[in-house]
Amino acid sequence: MFSAFKLRRIALNLIRSSNSRPLSEMKATAKLSGKVALVTASTEGIGFAIAKRLAEDGASVVISSRKQDKVEKRVKQLQDSGLDVVGTVCHVGNQEQRNKLVDFALEQKGGIDIFVSNAAVSPAMGMTLECSEAAWDKIFDINLKSAFLLTKLIVPQMEKKGGGSIVYISSIGGYQPLQLIGAYSVSKTALLGLTKALAIECAPMKIRVNCVCPGIIQTQFSRPFWENEAFLEMIKQVVPMRRIGQPEEIASLVSFLSSDDASYLTGESIPVAGGFYSRL
Ligand code: NAP
Repeated sequence: MFSAFKLRRIALNLIRSSNSRPLSEMKATAKLSGKVALVTASTEGIGFAIAKRLAEDGASVVISSRKQDKVEKRVKQLQDSGLDVVGTVCHVGNQEQRNKLVDFALEQKGGIDIFVSNAAVSPAMGMTLECSEAAWDKIFDINLKSAFLLTKLIVPQMEKKGGGSIVYISSIGGYQPLQLIGAYSVSKTALLGLTKALAIECAPMKIRVNCVCPGIIQTQFSRPFWENEAFLEMIKQVVPMRRIGQPEEIASLVSFLSSDDASYLTGESIPVAGGFYSRL
């Protein structure tokens, strides 16, 4: 079996060899200069890669997650690399902490231009009909309701600044429910609907709302899948690119969607899944 480190190194080499420019050069633009970005659940995995990429592309970034030590560690790591990053604790399911997160961003950075709603949980594996009420409520509270309630807090701030960009992190399971994580998948389908509903309502405020749907990406969240050799073999059969993805491959799309390069793009959901989605 591949170690996590080896798997990641192979994938990053593949990414590098499939691009004409090295990753270091790709980060060199400052297309988000002057923008303030708030990213939830951003101390690990996809959220961390997004926060890092937005900062590398010139944004001032506010990171957050539930654990103070993780926030402090990641803020220091990014600041030490010369990036403009601050952070605070926020469990997105907690109303008081959601309010504090938005207040923190306003106090520290004077406004919010980019909001990336990335937090999600999947506490139960099993048949959808066997999902308990408690698990169902937790999934929908974190994956959908918190995204909506944070959006409600942030939209007036974006409107004050004359516009903005909202990106929800959904999943390819939002298009076609994934076996054994049905309730999670349904919550991700709901984000596709939220994207469309809010894109229409927010367009007059010059706020664009889009959604990114990752396939299997190598993070802690998906560890039970990619640590399983049989699963990796199956990926080679069903994913045209014959590998799982890396968090940086989600971050690059989020950066594009957050930038003026995507100025006429709203209400869309975009799969990033190595071609797997085209087979669903
Ligand atoms: P991950 O590597 O497990 O990272 C989870 C991050 O979320 C950590 O920073 C964690 O920090 C934070 N977090 C967890 N619960 C939180 C909460 N209630 N409030 C605030 N922060 C919280 O996860 P990931 O794979 O990057 O997943 C990120 C997003 O991508 C999720 O929306 C997921 O559904 C989606 N996605 C992932 C995959 C995949 O294959 N990885 C595929 C499709 C979609 P703390 O412990 O400090 O809170």
